[in-house]
Parts: sequence; structure tokens; C-alpha cells
Amino acid sequence: MFQINENYLKLPGSYLFSTIGKKVKEYANAHKDKEIIRLGIGDVTLPLAPVVIQALHSAVDEMGKAETFKGYAPELGYEFLRQAIVDHDYKKRGAAIEIDEVFISDGAKSDSGNIGDIFGLENKVAVCDPVYPVYIDSNAMSGRTGNYVEAAGKWDKVIYMPCTAETNFAPELPKETPDMIYLCFPNNPTGSTITKPELQKWVDYALKVGAVIIYDAAYEAYISEDNVPHTIYECKGAEACAIELRSFSKNAGFTGTRLGFTVVPKALTCNGVSLNSLWARRHGTKFNGAPYIIQKAGAAVYTEEGQKQTKEQVAYYMNNAKIIYNGLKAAGYSVSGGVNAPYIWLRTPGKMTSWEFFDFLLEKANVVGTPGSGFGPSGEGYFRLTAFGSYENTKKAMERIQSI
Ligand code: PLP
Repeated sequence: MFQINENYLKLPGSYLFSTIGKKVKEYANAHKDKEIIRLGIGDVTLPLAPVVIQALHSAVDEMGKAETFKGYAPELGYEFLRQAIVDHDYKKRGAAIEIDEVFISDGAKSDSGNIGDIFGLENKVAVCDPVYPVYIDSNAMSGRTGNYVEAAGKWDKVIYMPCTAETNFAPELPKETPDMIYLCFPNNPTGSTITKPELQKWVDYALKVGAVIIYDAAYEAYISEDNVPHTIYECKGAEACAIELRSFSKNAGFTGTRLGFTVVPKALTCNGVSLNSLWARRHGTKFNGAPYIIQKAGAAVYTEEGQKQTKEQVAYYMNNAKIIYNGLKAAGYSVSGGVNAPYIWLRTPGKMTSWEFFDFLLEKANVVGTPGSGFGPSGEGYFRLTAFGSYENTKKAMERIQSI
């Protein structure tokens, strides 16, 4: 008889967003007169930029004519998009990434979940705590995380690197040596980031201990401060120890359109084996390419007009972030994030747990956020609000919170 991958049975239920949905629904049904404002979502709300829509329309027209119709896309992605990525995201930043080191995909979630395919199961994984759950769950599915210890809210083979107020929401170099290190800056959920010298320390450490860094830069477009690196390849030696994941979801609103890419430098090797070749093999075998029309839309983001229009969208969200940050501060909360990221991370008042504060905020202000404990044990006592709502709702939510 066939067997299943029993690692899936070890996964704890992912109750976070379903529990939030259930609680909000119950509250809304019992209080039909209340207008609930949702600042818990990590999804964008502004429509796609006009230049992206134009590119989509014209690519659709191409698909309707025999002379310009496109079938399967090239395995690594169309050159017009990979070249735009290399020029804008890397060359401009002094990073010597080449076109055959860029792999176009349908988003950073898939890539962050799939990248584990090219690594051995004995590798020891280190993650930030709190963390974007995909890094842990995908490693658990492949059997790299050991067993889940309910009481601790942790997997027994994973190295957790707490990111709390005490560590300035950045991880410290772990005591136990990891083989695979997941870093995400600007960070979801804390909204924190690290400076270039701080990231350089991680690169130096990875090179010293022989670890690989999987660097998720999905929120790169939100960086506003000069000393924050836009890519890990701004750090010396990173091409020999790091893979970078990027997404069009948050910089250009492609959450429903789906486009991302992964950079695997040719200099990244393990015992003489090129990870670039391994990922090319994996990509070519299990993925048949992002759609032509979407890659055309992605290329439009890199045009002058595309840059202008998408930067305006990011600025809109970052204005919301500022409203939330200042609004919470004025209300006496201890707040971080929101400067280089669309996430604002706050300490729950008194000794409230993350979930107690969720209920409190829902009842007193009719505002929905995300309990920090849902992202890992070190998120307990924290709460995440996002800047992806409308300006009007964001302002209203802060007025309500201030008047509690
Ligand atoms: N990485 C991080 C840290 C995220 O927060 C998200 C989405 O919320 C993703 C990756 C997923 O990006 P994509 O929409 O490209 O799959």
C-alpha cells in the first residue's frame, strides 16, 4: 500500500488567519451596526498601475495573433525581463549579478518553499522568531525540522533566533552553527531591517561556517533609509553564500498577478557543485515558466513610467505606515517598524497577550490586526498592523485607537 509523506502530519494547524476570520465574523454578526476596519492583511489594495495594465493589454493582443503568439516561456524566464532586473536591481546597486543567475518564477512564496529541494535533509535550519511561516513549514514538510513541541511552539531541530525589543528586532548570530539561514529584510512581520554593516556580519559568518543564506527581499521597495541594503549582494562575498528571493507582489501590486524571481549566483557552490545548476535543473523540471503576459507586465514596472507609478503606490502605503506609527506613538504605544516596511509592530499594553489585545482592539476600536504570537513564540506580547489599507480607513482606525 502507498504511504504518505508523514512529515505533513507533524505540522501544527495553521489557525492564525482562520481564527482571525472566525472571530471577526462572529463579532460582525453580533454587532451589525459596527464598521470594522481591517489592518491585518498582508495583501495590497491599490489597483495595478496604468503602465502595467497597458502592458497586459498589449501582451494579450500579441497572444491573439499567429505572428506574435507565445507558447512555453524560456525555462529561466524571458531575457527582456531578466535583463531589466539585472540592470535595475543589481548593476545600479553595484552588485555584479548576471542574467543567467536570475530565475523568473510565479512569486517568492513558491521560491521560498521550493528552494529546499536543492539542499540535503540533514541541514540544520536557522530562522528568525517571529518569522514568515513558509520557511519553517516547507522545511517541516521535507523533514528537516524534527518534531513540533507544542508547549514551546517550536520544532526541536530548528535554531530559533529571537527578534524582540531586546535584540532591536534583529537576529543575533546563533550559538549553535546552522547550515541554512533564512533572513528577511525588510522584515515581515516586525517591519524591522538591518544596516549594510550588520548584514555584512551575516555574510562573513555564513562564509566562515559554510552556511547558505536564503535572503528574502520581498519588501525591498519599501526601504527609505540610506544605510539599509537593497540586496544582499551589496555585501562583500555574498555571491558565494547567498540566494536572494524577490517578488513583484508588494512593489507593484502583483499579489494576484503572480511574479517573482530568485537569484542564485554561479559563485555559490558546495563541494564543487554549482547551486545555480541545481536550481536550473529543479526549475526546468518542476516549473514551466511564468506567463508571457505577466512577464511583459513585470518588465513594464522597470520602465521610467512604471518606476514612477509603482513608487507612488509604495509612497501611498508608506504614508499609511507613518499615520499608524505616529498614531500609535501618540496613543502611548511602544512601536517599531513602518519606516522601511509596510508593517508596524507594537508591544501590547500592560500584560496583555497578543490574542487578548486582538480581542480588545476588535471590541473597543473595531480594528483588526494580527497577533504577533501567530508568527512564533517570540512574537507573544506583540501585534502587527499593516499599511495596506486605504488612507481613509487607516486614519479612522488611528482616531479610534487614540480615543479608547
Ligand atoms: N516573503 C515574505 C516575507 C512575504 O511576506 C510574502 C508575502 O506576504 C512573500 C514572500 C510572498 O510573496 P509572493 O506574493 O511573491 O509569493
